[in-house]
Amino acid sequence: MSQLPWPESFLASAGWRGVRRMLARCLQLQAAGSLPGTLMLVGPAGLGREALAIELAATLVCRRQGGPGCDCSSCQRVRRGVHPDVEAIDVLPEKTEISIEQAHQVVDNVVQRPYEGMRRVWILSSCHTPPLNAEAASALLKTLEEPPWHASFLLLASNPARVLPTIVSRAVQLRVPHPGREELLSLLALAHGCSVERAAEMLTGAEGDAELALRGGEGLSSTLTGLEELISAALGADGLAILRTVATARQLPSGTDLVGAALLRLAAKADREAAERFLNAAAALVIAEDRRALLHLDAESVLVGTLARIAVGWGGR
Ligand SMILES: [Zn+2]
Repeated sequence: MSQLPWPESFLASAGWRGVRRMLARCLQLQAAGSLPGTLMLVGPAGLGREALAIELAATLVCRRQGGPGCDCSSCQRVRRGVHPDVEAIDVLPEKTEISIEQAHQVVDNVVQRPYEGMRRVWILSSCHTPPLNAEAASALLKTLEEPPWHASFLLLASNPARVLPTIVSRAVQLRVPHPGREELLSLLALAHGCSVERAAEMLTGAEGDAELALRGGEGLSSTLTGLEELISAALGADGLAILRTVATARQLPSGTDLVGAALLRLAAKADREAAERFLNAAAALVIAEDRRALLHLDAESVLVGTLARIAVGWGGR
């Protein structure tokens, strides 16, 4: 059983061509003594960045210097998330953010030499704020700026614009390459336990958005179509439709993201003026969601408020 904070399918992308190429490049730098101590791996969740982080960590820690794909017990334990020299930091259960206490633990521990491997590696499952608490980020700055010789930090991000500038300036960014279509389809099939043909339909249903297809899974297309209908009614200032949109979103994993995706789909189909309104609505939703997480507000009431505000704005035209 994996102790990592991600589904096991996230590591399947270790075999992707782009991921292997980037890993090889990092290892060349490491061999030359010029791999930066703090790296930001930039890419959508589940589409290569976690696999790259784990394979890089395994190789940096491996005493056999087995290189990529090494099958020694140390590398295997890194891939299962149970190696004492590799720690993946994530939001703890029942919490909404990566806390200052977690940051203090890292700072207090970082001087400790490796327990058994060549190095110690910390992987931050997201360095966006939120979920990385702003005070926790400040507590980490000095360590990220100059990690001890034996420590490496791998910070995962989908969008550096959502990372505090103080963190951005202390990390070297590596953009994780997009997968090829075949690679992506076999990942979707693995993640959702379906055939490659079905995965291709899902990807079409998500209009080519790989991250959405990965998270949305079976029934994504009909879910989005249902949300589109509800949202169209909701934005026509139909109060009941607003509540039904929110109730539907609540039952879905990453429901607010799916409402955003439905708004983008509506924009793609609308005429120019309406498209602009849908895009503005999607932007308002992103801003409200960021603020919500920062202020620990309740997701449902924020979604109701945002949709109602957009609907009132539309009615005024
Ligand atoms: Zn190994």
